Amino acid sequence: MSSIVAIVGRPNVGKSTFFNRLIQRRDAIVDSVSGVTRDRNYGKSEWNGREFSVIDTGGYVKGSDDVFEGEIRRQVSLAIDEADAIIFVVDVEEGITPMDAEVARLLRKETKPIFVAVNKVDSSKRMDDTFEFYNLGLGEIFPIAGMSGSGTGDLLDAVVAAL
Ligand code: GDP
Ligand code: MG
Repeated sequence: MSSIVAIVGRPNVGKSTFFNRLIQRRDAIVDSVSGVTRDRNYGKSEWNGREFSVIDTGGYVKGSDDVFEGEIRRQVSLAIDEADAIIFVVDVEEGITPMDAEVARLLRKETKPIFVAVNKVDSSKRMDDTFEFYNLGLGEIFPIAGMSGSGTGDLLDAVVAAL
């Protein structure tokens, strides 16, 4: 079975944009993955000659912040169970929100490789704002722009090296 990379984070940070850039083909449902739920998208990707499955989480999450919070916790724990590596996406335009801090708290307990992708770094002047995300306490951060693909190569180099 190929390795699984899960993309987690609160709504609107750009998870699906990055996922859509990453995947070459979208699998309806992957049977071999346990605990498959309909609120996640599965796809196949390849980088540096390494094939892996990608899970985009939170696809159908709608509602208030309270609803989000329980749902995101559930998504994060599912991702922790299933994935071999986790990409935690945050948004440089918003900075660290309370929900980001909560997700980081859950992820810090884990031994699986975690990669912090600071998304929406569309210009070099945004770069200065990325450093605050070191305060999440999850190690190295990767500035990316999921929309243009900028920075995603360095992130994927690190992710596949950890698989
Ligand atoms: P998700 O809820 O985390 O899956 O986020 P989406 O992928 O649906 O994106 C949320 C919003 O962020 C959309 O309006 C995207 O167009 C926007 N977005 C995604 N990636 C980027 C980026 O690299 N730069 C900018 N400026 N906006 C982005
Ligand atoms: Mg989405």
